[in-house]
Amino acid sequence: MFDAALASAVHRAADASSTSRSAAGHIRQTEVLSDMFAGHFEAVTTVGVAFASVLQGQQGQTQGEKTGLGLGVAEAADGEIVAFDGEVWRIPMDGRPVLAEPTLGVPFAVVAEGGKPVIQQLPAGLGFAEITAHIDTLLRSFDKQHEHRVAAVRIDGLFGDVLLRSEPRQTPPYPTLETVLEHESSFAFRRWPGTLAGFRFPDVSDGIVIPGLHLHGVSDDRASGGHCHRATTIAATLSVWVDDVEVRIPPALVGRQDEGNRN
Ligand SMILES: [Zn+2]
Repeated sequence: MFDAALASAVHRAADASSTSRSAAGHIRQTEVLSDMFAGHFEAVTTVGVAFASVLQGQQGQTQGEKTGLGLGVAEAADGEIVAFDGEVWRIPMDGRPVLAEPTLGVPFAVVAEGGKPVIQQLPAGLGFAEITAHIDTLLRSFDKQHEHRVAAVRIDGLFGDVLLRSEPRQTPPYPTLETVLEHESSFAFRRWPGTLAGFRFPDVSDGIVIPGLHLHGVSDDRASGGHCHRATTIAATLSVWVDDVEVRIPPALVGRQDEGNRN
């Protein structure tokens, strides 16, 4: 069910005390997580709409200003989506990234736009738990609390012990996400140069956001990618957006939660 308390907690991320709202970034989430788990893999929007800010970054902006990033799932669970540097990639079951067409349907997406990242070199040897702790420390140093914040995260560089995954395309009536993931394909790499992009969500199991660190990635040679299960830093640069981010869920979709479980 829709958790109003959590939603308001996350919305508090829109920092009213910010003195630089014009430079502020935003994070938008399409669809609530519980719908994904229930198997709502029908498109509620398209790549062109959900990732518009990322795609627009491709045109007319300098490299340093391409701050848009995001992740998502393709219609019919036909692959993982990751977006950065003005491009939106879909990684289907075979693990080979393909550029996503703007018309591709999307049932779930989280997109960050605007804002300025804090950029740091990460120490070598950090796994997901340590990366998460590093991000939380960074947020605290800016007087931000990860419990009430969705932080956009990007990590570029060389990683070891990487495990990526994707999942097979489904046909209606759609099974639950749990069932889909029983048939996931995973790809392991001893050394993997690439970009991971996504979010550090609050550690809550509310059915709205995915708790913890959630990253999707594409390798530098664009030959591999997917949802990142694990990775260890070898030589990696972290970018975290600490300013004014929020999850905005379309009211119509929140309302659908009250219709009860359609399955
Ligand atoms: Zn994912």
